[in-house]
Amino acid sequence: MKPDKIAESLESIPLSMLETWGIEGIILDVDNTILPRTSDTIAQSVENWILEAKKQFQIIIVSNNSRKKIKRASQPLQLAYIPWALKPIRYYFLKASRRIHVEPSKICVIGDQLFTDVKGAKACKMKAIWVQPLEPGKDMIWTKKRRKKEQFWIQKWSCDFSLKI
Ligand SMILES: [Mg+2]
Repeated sequence: MKPDKIAESLESIPLSMLETWGIEGIILDVDNTILPRTSDTIAQSVENWILEAKKQFQIIIVSNNSRKKIKRASQPLQLAYIPWALKPIRYYFLKASRRIHVEPSKICVIGDQLFTDVKGAKACKMKAIWVQPLEPGKDMIWTKKRRKKEQFWIQKWSCDFSLKI
């Protein structure tokens, strides 16, 4: 469940670092990673990061949210996507890996939840970067409950400077 890195935001992740890791594919979470959960508009800085990353990596969105929401989020950036992913179960992470033709060890998962994004990534032997949620106050009720536990671990790991970006 421990991520390889902890980042303040998606945009703060250097693409050169992913390259050094030997990454070829990126699995992106949507809610609170690239979009505030209650919004449909991706910030320009986030969009720029994704467009830049697209030049170098295969990118796919894997989200537990509905097809409708995910389609809307992925279309402007023309990203492949898998909705209703039931993270942290491994099935759709591995399906995403097949879809982008990149083996799991060369994939980095980026998301804002330890118990879905990071846990699932690690179960599939993928790299994982945890990003601070964009809008944690608007989480679903079950996510809110998990956030407390998540914060415990994040605070603990935050003392480890090698984890920080
Ligand atoms: Mg999320």
